[in-house]
Amino acid sequence: MYRHTDVSGAEISLPVGKVVCVGRNYLDHIHELNNEVPDAPLLFIKPNTALVRLEDTIRVPTDKGPCHNELEVAVLICESLTKASTNQAEQAIWGYGLALDLTLREVQSKLKEKGQPWEKAKSFDNSCPQSRFVPAQDIETPQDMAFELKVNGEQRQQGNTAMMMRNTVELIKEISHHFTLVPGDIVLTGTPKGVGPLNPGDFLQVNLEEYLDLRVQVQANHD
Ligand code: ZN
Repeated sequence: MYRHTDVSGAEISLPVGKVVCVGRNYLDHIHELNNEVPDAPLLFIKPNTALVRLEDTIRVPTDKGPCHNELEVAVLICESLTKASTNQAEQAIWGYGLALDLTLREVQSKLKEKGQPWEKAKSFDNSCPQSRFVPAQDIETPQDMAFELKVNGEQRQQGNTAMMMRNTVELIKEISHHFTLVPGDIVLTGTPKGVGPLNPGDFLQVNLEEYLDLRVQVQANHD
């Protein structure tokens, strides 16, 4: 059962809520998938049943086409936010971590073609491996943080929060004008380029500046 944890591994006393994700927030990734630059953020939600600890084994489905990595900065929310101001959005950030927005890319492409919602591609069980969270007060420049994913020793994704089209606080504020955020919700802030398939047996190294440095093995969802 997933619980939010801090960098020491201690449980954070917040419930486990929904995960609100933004589809296109880094220009390099929009170009990578030949998507249009959105004039408003493209939002979707993963249920809390999608959450697993990133520090544990990552499990990917093997019977639904390629399952892609999207490494994203994750924000843990600790206050209720409805139609928030910039200041309220900033005050509601408990801390920062990294998450994988696992995506069944072929399933998503078919859904997109038909104009259907993305949940089957994005919201399945275990589709949101989530790291421990670093308290916001321990991070000096949250809007200038580098993060990286290596797969089998080779760099696959390298991002920096400075490259976001909408910064984290703006994004939270805007989300709160569509969905109320409650304590224990997570906001994923979008993926930079470098998405690609993850396969059972792959060895992942994930880091966020000097705050997080994780190693994890990919397994098949069924075993
Ligand atoms: Zn994503």
